Amino acid sequence: MPKLSGGCMCGGARYEVDGDLHFSSVCHCPSCRKAAGAPLVGWAIFEAAAVSCDRSTVKVFESSEGVRRSFCPVCGTTLFFEADMMPGLIDITTESLDEPDAAVPTAQIWTMHETKCVKAFGGMARFEAFPPQE
Ligand SMILES: [Zn+2]
Ligand SMILES: [Zn+2]
Repeated sequence: MPKLSGGCMCGGARYEVDGDLHFSSVCHCPSCRKAAGAPLVGWAIFEAAAVSCDRSTVKVFESSEGVRRSFCPVCGTTLFFEADMMPGLIDITTESLDEPDAAVPTAQIWTMHETKCVKAFGGMARFEAFPPQE
């Protein structure tokens, strides 16, 4: 049985991971933020050989030279990041894992690009669900 599994929101793209987690982080870089439409993106790094996925179920976008981002063409979920500068490794979005808590990030990377939104997290009002509307 694989150690981890995951996939996109619509279920059209699925993957399995049968290997150890190398590193888990959240990335502040503008490229990840834009690709996900989110203020932060969590990435879990594994040996590429440990990850199995039917690649006909994903589309690939070269976001910069030598950098490939894979996503579900139906629902748009960002799944993988692969780069020529990281041969043999694959980054998987932690939130596409069936159990994201299996890869809790231990670091923040590209903090030089941290947004005002993320900096404001600590001071924001918090609501357990959608806030009451007046
Ligand atoms: Zn999908
Ligand atoms: Zn990034």
